[in-house]
Amino acid sequence: MDIVGNVLPQVLKDEATEDKGEMARLQSFVGAIAVADLVKTTLGPKGMDKILKPTGPGQEMTHITVTNDGATILRSMYVENPAAKILIEISKTQDEEVGDGTTTVAVLAGELLREGEKLIQKRIHPQHVIAGWRIARDVALKRLRDISSENDINSQEFHDDLVKIARTTLSSKLITTDRDYFADLCVKAVLRLKGSSNLDYIQIIKLPGGTIRDSYLDDGFILKKQITIGCKRRIENAKILVANTAMDYDKIKIYGTKVKVNSMDKVAEIEAAEKEKMKHKVDKILKYQPTVFVNRQLIYNYPEQLLADSGITVIEHADFEGMERVAAATGAEILSTFDAPERSAQVLGHCDLIEEIMIGEEKMIKFSGCKKNEACTIVLRGASTHILDEVDRSIHDALCVLITTVKNRRVVWGGGNSEMQMAAACEEEAKKVQGKQAFAIEAFARALRQIPTIICDNGGYDSAELIQNFKVELQKGNQICGLNMTDGTIGNMSELGVKECLRVKEQALMAASEAAELIMRVDDIVKCAPRKRERA
Ligand code: ADP
Ligand code: MG
Repeated sequence: MDIVGNVLPQVLKDEATEDKGEMARLQSFVGAIAVADLVKTTLGPKGMDKILKPTGPGQEMTHITVTNDGATILRSMYVENPAAKILIEISKTQDEEVGDGTTTVAVLAGELLREGEKLIQKRIHPQHVIAGWRIARDVALKRLRDISSENDINSQEFHDDLVKIARTTLSSKLITTDRDYFADLCVKAVLRLKGSSNLDYIQIIKLPGGTIRDSYLDDGFILKKQITIGCKRRIENAKILVANTAMDYDKIKIYGTKVKVNSMDKVAEIEAAEKEKMKHKVDKILKYQPTVFVNRQLIYNYPEQLLADSGITVIEHADFEGMERVAAATGAEILSTFDAPERSAQVLGHCDLIEEIMIGEEKMIKFSGCKKNEACTIVLRGASTHILDEVDRSIHDALCVLITTVKNRRVVWGGGNSEMQMAAACEEEAKKVQGKQAFAIEAFARALRQIPTIICDNGGYDSAELIQNFKVELQKGNQICGLNMTDGTIGNMSELGVKECLRVKEQALMAASEAAELIMRVDDIVKCAPRKRERA
């Protein structure tokens, strides 16, 4: 520290603190690398899982999470270090944008910073490092795009690719033993969407009981509700009115209301008036001529009876999400006023059959042959809620990746292939660049190579030897080699069927290098106390 820093008059208030130069940078590096190291062990098909346990008063009973998903782990972490927060943020964004590669992005950013720290120790200015990284990133991105391939959307190859991509995504998860089964299931669900990216049409229902293998795909929409007693349990060619309206005031709620009357007759009168209002509402609903009425709110006995008497099947108290999905799948509009029965044809939803079904021990309502035929339901079974939650997260990852792939259609080989190829491209580039930036470009290559290295380490294999063999194999021109994680050798990715979506890799590369650059630029951390109200 120079002396000037010490003799400067105090600029910051007492509550605020400042870390400068080396200290600030070191703090950021340490924070980011610590976060990356935390999720490092979950990377790859042989990655380990983590248990997340909430602490604090009143939290002991809330249930724990067992997961392998980088974004889930990072999301539940509570950190103080600002650089660590940046890493958590990029992992979250990766999850929202493409659904997979959430561990990769955090690990890559961490490794870049580890390399960056070494460069700074060698007295290379951060601006040179950043300039070098930018060159490296562009070169890597170009190589990544060059090695990707595209298939026609309707071809059998594309379909096979989708299954392989789903398998790769699922292979690091709990359901890895059943990954073929689930990969197939996810692909079928996504292909039903016919290019749309609305995940709402794919509903996931989790029901404890049975085994993971009892999970299945149901073509139709399933609502976790029961049909009201006294109504028809099977409706063909249903016309569905979906509503969000109050239907619960046929009786006076004595406790909530204050009415002054001088005889019981008056109470009866008021009650009759309320009933009349309700009947009026039901009449308005009937004008739409639905055969099924789904309401988000409770329906009291009186209106329920009126509706049932008119031969309408009533489903009450559907949760909001369920109701929105029913509306989306059957092509209905959600109504809360009923003054335009002439629009009935547009606002009513339609489906071929509604029936009550049993899954495990629970009764549910199934809508099949919906107007929007994209809708389907994945019913997950499993021994405990922890397992079901993790399976749900894994399936969600796979569905997101598949939707991205259907949109983008470009795929690359997995098993570390793309990272090794990108690293090779960076190294070739480093030979051509003059000046200190070349060191940064080489560092970028080393960081990329860490991804397959960590995947090997997590599987308990000798990474130094494997990665060297990998390099040589690529050098020889074998474009489809990659890590064979069952035997611990360099294998053929085409035979092993390990493929990945280009978008996932692109996004991971861009996000990681941006985050690393952002953290690299820091030379000052000012901690500010929350602003207090100034006295006038
Ligand atoms: P992320 O959260 O980043 O998706 P994963 O734990 O899913 O992390 O690991 C993804 C990495 O594992 C990818 O680089 C992928 O190529 C690699 N991988 C997945 N399955 C296999 C496999 N069967 N053989 C070799 N590598 C695999
Ligand atoms: Mg993954």
